[in-house]
Amino acid sequence: MSEPKLRTPTKRTCERCGRVERWDAAQTTWRVVEADGERQVGSPYCIHEWDINGTFAPFEDKNAHA
Ligand SMILES: [Zn+2]
Repeated sequence: MSEPKLRTPTKRTCERCGRVERWDAAQTTWRVVEADGERQVGSPYCIHEWDINGTFAPFEDKNAHA
């Protein structure tokens, strides 16, 4: 039996400001990625547009129609 697990992306990048986040499964939240000791926060005023499937919902636990 295959579990109805989401193929969750574990990383996402904002196409507008360059913010990079990774999924923290333990904390169940997105965390800003650090690169070269610098947090890739992008712009705080950006309406982030992530380069992942827009329908991805990390908190969706129903067997949503794919
Ligand atoms: Zn952004």
